[in-house]
Amino acid sequence: MIEITGLVKRHGDVVAVAVDGWQVARGEAWLLAGPSGSGKSTLLALIAGLTEPTSGRVVVGGADLATIRPGDRDRWRGRTIGLVPQRLHLIGAISVADNLRLAQRLAGVGHDDARIAALLEAVQAADLARRVPRELSQGQAQRVAIARAVVNRPAVLLADEPTASLDDEHAAHALELLRAQALEAGATLVVASHDARVRPLLPRAFVLSARPGPLADGGAAR
Ligand code: ADP
Ligand code: MG
Repeated sequence: MIEITGLVKRHGDVVAVAVDGWQVARGEAWLLAGPSGSGKSTLLALIAGLTEPTSGRVVVGGADLATIRPGDRDRWRGRTIGLVPQRLHLIGAISVADNLRLAQRLAGVGHDDARIAALLEAVQAADLARRVPRELSQGQAQRVAIARAVVNRPAVLLADEPTASLDDEHAAHALELLRAQALEAGATLVVASHDARVRPLLPRAFVLSARPGPLADGGAAR
């Protein structure tokens, strides 16, 4: 589902991430590990087609991202990728339910209020549909962000540091929810995290090294 080959992303002289190779099969659940600054967020952005590599190839669901025309990228992403960003980026001026409707609209899929209701129910946020994001707790906002990420049944679900500000119980619950929703949507899951608590909760890990150079790659583990 995700194939990465000879990938390097530079910002000037800084190598933000370098990965020789990484293959993620359909339906697998992976931890993307490595210390802060090792390139986890950059790699998620490359997989989501939010940024372009300096060199190398990213293939998602059989599509080489370099071949997707810039004008088609947002719609491709909206239909293919579910992203739970580190800062949740819920739109503050509109309700929880409208945040999910907006995700459907941006992907060019029709409104499906039944799907939204079922999903909010599944993440225990049914009673929050008409609230605006500032009226949510951290844990509630994250459950809503997970629902928004899977609303279009993405092939790939990416989550960036989803446990960063959560206590042990909520961290475990967030991981459970990501795995359950990925399974339900039939999505391949990649969770970027430097949180040691997350490692035992995912079956596979890909570890980026602390300071990647052009010749150093992330190594697979387990
Ligand atoms: P992680 O998510 O593992 O903490 P990041 O992907 O955020 O790592 O960053 C990897 C490296 O790339 C860091 O050294 C970071 O400072 C650098 N970096 C990321 N984005 C930029 C940018 N836009 N400009 C310059 N350097 C960047
Ligand atoms: Mg990061």
